[in-house]
Amino acid sequence: MIHDTDRKLRILAVDDDPVALLLYSRVLGDFLELETHETAESALESFKAKPADILLLDWLLPGMDGLELAARIRNLPDTNDVQILVVTGRDESDSLEQALHAGANDYLEKPVSPQQLMVRLEIAKRNLELRESKKESERKGALMLRVFDNSMHGILITDRNNKIIYTNRAFSRITGFESDEALGQTPAFLSSGFHSEAFYKQLWESISNHGGWKGEIWNKRKNGEIYPEWLEISTVVNEDRELTHFIAHFSDISQKKQNEEQLRYLASYDTLTGLPNRSHFLEILDRSLVRAGEDRSKGAILFLDLDRFQVINDTLSHGSGDLLLRLVSERLRGLIGPTDTLSRTGGDEFAILLESLSGVDQPIQMVEAVMTEFAKPFHIEGQEVYVSASTGICIFPDDGNDSDTLLRNVDMAMYRAKETGRNTYHFYSPEINTRAFEHLALEASLRRAIEKDEFLLHFQPLIASEDEMPVAAEALIRWQHPELGMVSPARFIPMAEETGLIVPMGAMVLRKACEAFMDLKSRDVNLDYISVNVSARQFFQEEFLGMIDSTLEATGMAPRNLELELTESAFLQDVERTVELLDLLRQRGLHIAIDDFGTGFSSLSYLKRFPLDTLKIDQSFVKDIHRNKDDMAIVRAIIALATVMKLRIVAEGVETEEHAQILKREGCNILQGYLFSRPLPKDELEAFLNARRQQNTV
Ligand code: C2E
Ligand code: CA
Ligand code: CA
Repeated sequence: MIHDTDRKLRILAVDDDPVALLLYSRVLGDFLELETHETAESALESFKAKPADILLLDWLLPGMDGLELAARIRNLPDTNDVQILVVTGRDESDSLEQALHAGANDYLEKPVSPQQLMVRLEIAKRNLELRESKKESERKGALMLRVFDNSMHGILITDRNNKIIYTNRAFSRITGFESDEALGQTPAFLSSGFHSEAFYKQLWESISNHGGWKGEIWNKRKNGEIYPEWLEISTVVNEDRELTHFIAHFSDISQKKQNEEQLRYLASYDTLTGLPNRSHFLEILDRSLVRAGEDRSKGAILFLDLDRFQVINDTLSHGSGDLLLRLVSERLRGLIGPTDTLSRTGGDEFAILLESLSGVDQPIQMVEAVMTEFAKPFHIEGQEVYVSASTGICIFPDDGNDSDTLLRNVDMAMYRAKETGRNTYHFYSPEINTRAFEHLALEASLRRAIEKDEFLLHFQPLIASEDEMPVAAEALIRWQHPELGMVSPARFIPMAEETGLIVPMGAMVLRKACEAFMDLKSRDVNLDYISVNVSARQFFQEEFLGMIDSTLEATGMAPRNLELELTESAFLQDVERTVELLDLLRQRGLHIAIDDFGTGFSSLSYLKRFPLDTLKIDQSFVKDIHRNKDDMAIVRAIIALATVMKLRIVAEGVETEEHAQILKREGCNILQGYLFSRPLPKDELEAFLNARRQQNTV
C-alpha cells in the first residue's frame, strides 16, 4: 500500500506508551524513516534539528501534550505541509475539533490497529504528494507569470466570459491602464471605435472556427490616443475541450507604422518644398479622374513652368535657387483651396489640380491669382527677385481621360504659353497638337530659311516727343515663309535661341540694318541711329565683338549710329562679363539700350553697374497707363531712375494719343508705337520719314 518513493518519508512518532511505539516501529520501520519519542519535548527538539514529513502524536502526554506540540510545530517556518496525525482515546474524541484547530490533519482512535495505521499513513502520504504537485504547479505558474510580466509584448488573459483576469506590465506600459483598472472588464474598453461591427464579427468568427485570430487593430490608450497594434488571440481549452480562457498577445506598432509613414512620405513628397511629388500627383490625379467619371464633374490641371528659372538661379548664389523655389511654393500654397492639389512635379515645374470645376473661368482665376502673386518680388539675399510662370491648362475629361494623355497635353499647352511670350497661360485644345508638329517642322524650315535668305527686316520709327520728329528706327526681323506667309518673330526667335540659329540670324540682321541705314543716308534720309535687338545667346557668343567690328567696317557704318537692345535678363546671366562687354562696345562708340525694362527682375544696384545709354519701358506698362495707377507709378519710377542715371528713355507700344500725351508729360524722350507707325519695309520707312520731314518744313 505504501509505495517506495525516491526518498523515504521521515516520521516522528510520540507516545508515552512504549508498547505503542513498538507497534509503530514494527509496522512502519521498514519503509519509513521512523523515529520514536516518549515526550513531546524531545520530539520537538528532534524536529527542529531535522524536520519530518509526518508526525504521529499521542494526544495525552506528560508535560507538553500533543495539542501543544502540534501548535508549536505549526508555528515553526515551512511546516504547512507536515502531516500531523493525532492519536486519541475514544473518550477524548470531543477534543478532536481542538486538535484540528491546533493544526492536526487527521486523527486515529486508540487502540490503533496496524491496518488502520497503514491506511491513515497512506492518506497522509497522498496528501503530501498532492501538496507537492500543487506547489510544483504553483511554482510553474509563478514562473510563467514572471515570464509574462517581463515580456515586451502586452498580454491579456480573459476567462470564458471574456472578463479580464490577467494583464502584464507591458499591457500597462502600452495601454496606460493598470492591471486593477482592467481586471473584471471585457477588452472592449480598449477599443478605438475605428473598426466596424463587421470587423469584430469576423474576428470572433475566426476565433471560434480556427481557435485564434491575428492582425492589425487600432486600440485606444488611457490618454485617449489611438494607436495601432499587432494582435494575436488564442484560446485555451481544458481536457474536455471546453474553452476556458482567451489569451491576447499584442505589440504596439505605432513606431513601425510611423516609419512606414515616413517611407511613404519620402516616396510621395518633394523634400525641398514638402509638396506632393510627380508620382504622388499622378496618383491623386488618377483618383480624381475616377471621381470625375463617377459624378460627371470636370477638373483642370494647371501646369506651371517658371520662366527663365535657370537664368535666375545662375545669378543667385548657391542654395538661393532652392530658397526661391520654397518661397514660390509657399505663395502657390496660399492660393489653393482645400480640395485642390499643388505639386512640385519637377525642378521648376509645379502642377495644380482643381476638382469639381464650376466653369473654365475657375482655372483662369487661379492663373491670374498666381500672376498677381508673382508680380510681387521675392526677397532673396537682400535682392528683389521677380519670377513669372508660363502655364498650360487642360480640362478633363474633355482633353483626355487618363493621366498620361492629360500630362502630355497640359505640357503642350504650357509650351504654347512659353512660345507666345512667357508669363502667360494657354489652354490645351486639339489645335495645339497640330502646332506641336508644326514646331518641329518650323525648326527644320528655320534652318533652311537662313540658307535661302527668307528673312527680311522691317523698321519701326522712333519719334522724339518734343517735336514728334522721327529720330531713329528699330530693326525688327520678319520671316517670309513660302507657305506660312509672314511668321512673327515671337514664334521663331525663342526657337532660334534654343537651337543657336540666333547667332547667324543676328549677324544677318545687323548687316541688313547697317546696310539699310547707309542706304537711306546715301539718299539723304538721315536718322540719328538705328537700333538692333541682340539676344543673350548672341551677345555672349565668343565671336560677337568681332562680328560687330567686321559688320561696321564692311558697311561703313559709324558706331555712334548703332544702338544695341538687350533685355534685362540677358544682362543678368553673367554680370561681370556683361559689364566688360558693354564697356568694350561703348569704347567703340556704340549705344546700348536695355529693352523691355520693368518686366525682368533687375535690381537697381545692378543697373548702376552697367554702362547704358537708353532705357526702353516695356509696352505692358504703357498699354494701361491711362487707367492703371500701378502702371503709371512704375512708369514714373522708371523715368525718375533714367533721369538720375542720365539715360535716354523710350516708351514702346504707344498706340493712342492719350498714351503719347501722358508719356510726354511724364518726361519720356522718345515714343515708339502704332500711333506713329507700324514696323515698315525699308521703302515704306523711307516714304514715312520723307512725309514727316515735309510736314515739318511746310
Ligand atoms: P521688342 O524688341 O520689344 O519689339 C517691339 C515689338 O512690339 C515688335 O514686335 C513691334 O512690332 C511691337 N510693337 C511696336 N509698336 C507697337 C504698338 O504700338 N503696340 C503693340 N501691341 N505692339 C507694338 P515684333 O516685331 O513682333 O517683335 C517681337 C519681338 O521679337 C521683339 O520685341 C524682339 O524681342 C524680338 N525680335 C524682333 N526682331 C529681332 C531681331 O532681329 N533679333 C532679336 N534677337 N530679336 C528680335
Ligand atoms: Ca526691341
Ligand atoms: Ca521691347
